[in-house]
Amino acid sequence: MTQSASTTVAFLGAGTMGAPMARNLASAGFAVRAWNRTREKADAVDGVEVADSPEEAASGAGAVITMLADASAVEEAMTGGEGALPALEGAPWIQMSTIGLAGTERMKATAAEHEVAFVDAPVLGTKEPAEQAQLLVLASGPEDDDLRGRCQPLFDAVGQKTLWVGEAGAGSRLKLVLNSWLLTLVEGVAEAVALASSIGVDPERFLEAIEGGPLGVPYADLKGRAMIADEFPPSFALALARKDAELVLEAAADLELPFARAVTLQLRRAEACGLGEQDMAAVARMVGSDRGATRAET
Ligand code: NAP
Repeated sequence: MTQSASTTVAFLGAGTMGAPMARNLASAGFAVRAWNRTREKADAVDGVEVADSPEEAASGAGAVITMLADASAVEEAMTGGEGALPALEGAPWIQMSTIGLAGTERMKATAAEHEVAFVDAPVLGTKEPAEQAQLLVLASGPEDDDLRGRCQPLFDAVGQKTLWVGEAGAGSRLKLVLNSWLLTLVEGVAEAVALASSIGVDPERFLEAIEGGPLGVPYADLKGRAMIADEFPPSFALALARKDAELVLEAAADLELPFARAVTLQLRRAEACGLGEQDMAAVARMVGSDRGATRAET
């Protein structure tokens, strides 16, 4: 069966990413039944029917998508009281949150216990690409053309491109590698901006100097400008970036990754200073002086 406009999609999670993704699925013609722990956020999503529980959302649906904060939130929504998993009748579970390697393996095993097809499909892209249906979907799952064919129209509704990268788990592996790069990039930008300010260089000049050249990355420009303005409305909440940094360290338990360790520490300090709900670029407040470290350690 191909997913079509008549297919009901259960969408669990209406946060920064989930809300625009659910709206884009509805715009593409899917009948979206959305659930969110804080109901008001689901109520605010145009074009979706709001369910009172994950179970209600999933009942009779053609697919369930999870886009929740972390592995424990996903587990609770799928297998907790009024969870979605037992309500699925032959429909696949498409897991799009970032939950790391161990979390993904655990969810895959749980799905198998319920004889539910599991597709691991985290995304690359933040709030604005989610709003514009421009995400990159890192899909992985069984080599089953029918299953992949059922997932593809859903991915097309939220993303600009899908990479099928292997068996379930491969998507989350690639996502961790990308996050490792992104997290160190943001810390690197924060430190360059701080250094510039402290030695009398306008940090705007730093961004101008790298723009469009081999050292320039649009993401560095985006986050660098937020750091210079010292304004951090959340696109990617710092607490989630800290969670992702910890997932990198967990996956790399046998490796020495000094930068990943340092970035994790910086993000933990920033969160301890009350910056968890700000954008991850607020990690810049932890560099440039010893103010941040001092505050975090008190
Ligand atoms: P978010 O805005 O913080 O939303 C988190 C969602 O998880 C909300 O729906 C929240 O419900 C729910 N949640 C949290 N704890 C829960 C629990 N214990 N039980 C049930 N629901 C719970 O996060 P987001 O930015 O949308 O990110 C969602 C996922 O995508 C995360 O895994 C994140 O790492 C990943 N991701 C984010 C970005 C990004 O740039 N933002 C990019 C790629 C991937 P409430 O509304 O009730 O709090």
